[in-house]
Amino acid sequence: MSDLKPIIVPESHNYVAAFLTLGCNLTCSYCINHFGLPASVKKHISGEEWVKGLNRIVSREDLPLTLQGGEPSIHKDFIYILNNIKPELKIDILTNLQFDVEEFIAKVDPERIKRDAPYASIRVSYHPEVMELEPLIEKVQRMLDANFSIGIWSVLHPTQEDVVREAQEICTAKGIDFRFKEFLGEYEGKLYGSFRYEGACDKTFKKHVLCKTTELIMGPDASVYRCHSDLYEGRAPVGNILDPEFQIEEIYRPCDDYGHCNPCDIKVKTNRLQEYGHTSVEIEFPEDESEAV
Ligand code: SF4
Ligand code: SF4
Repeated sequence: MSDLKPIIVPESHNYVAAFLTLGCNLTCSYCINHFGLPASVKKHISGEEWVKGLNRIVSREDLPLTLQGGEPSIHKDFIYILNNIKPELKIDILTNLQFDVEEFIAKVDPERIKRDAPYASIRVSYHPEVMELEPLIEKVQRMLDANFSIGIWSVLHPTQEDVVREAQEICTAKGIDFRFKEFLGEYEGKLYGSFRYEGACDKTFKKHVLCKTTELIMGPDASVYRCHSDLYEGRAPVGNILDPEFQIEEIYRPCDDYGHCNPCDIKVKTNRLQEYGHTSVEIEFPEDESEAV
């Protein structure tokens, strides 16, 4: 038995994510991981350590642990992690499905990654600039035949809208759930996305604010971050789930990096109950201290 105390996810929280790695086996030009400064090299921890930390988490039936990245399947112990997370913790996976699906089917119970939700538990990202659609469809169909809860999502990037809409038609005709994701980020000098706080992602100024998150975001060494921007840009974490004392605090934390936020944290989106209007962070502006950079 672990001597680490449980980490109770507060009712206010809408997302619990373990970024097993920020590395990926693909190179999409619009990858949100590279919105800000290049991610600093991150320490990775073993599957055993991940399981030790993640099994402290006490979440709700409708709030799964999402394994993501980068590409989570390139973690050397990906399947070990899946198979050793305690059954009380539901699991979702965000993946580009470049892994060996036959090995996955042989080693993972489809019931383990399944829950009562309005969308698939394994959410595959389709990136037309670096992926062929047909082989992807074959892999998804193989996983569906093996009884996995799996669907495809694709970003409506301005350069690939037509091809993504066509892919949806092809997949829908084959009985595959295919959904669109809003493009968040910059293209030809324009910032795409619906954001709650003006200028937060402009990267043209920095301002002191107070910020509170509704997400438990864990980086590749199990450190916990205030937001995606902190994770991707290598700012100091607020804790680590392997620290025996770690508990989630529902507090506003001071931040001097407002203006360099990541679109994932600021965009207006649908929460886990499929309700629109949610934002990952709540920001308060104590005083006007803009500083041009
Ligand atoms: S598959 Fe996802 S994580 Fe990998 S480069 Fe593309 S957008 Fe980034
Ligand atoms: S203000 Fe922006 S950069 Fe600062 S913690 Fe909040 S989301 Fe992250």
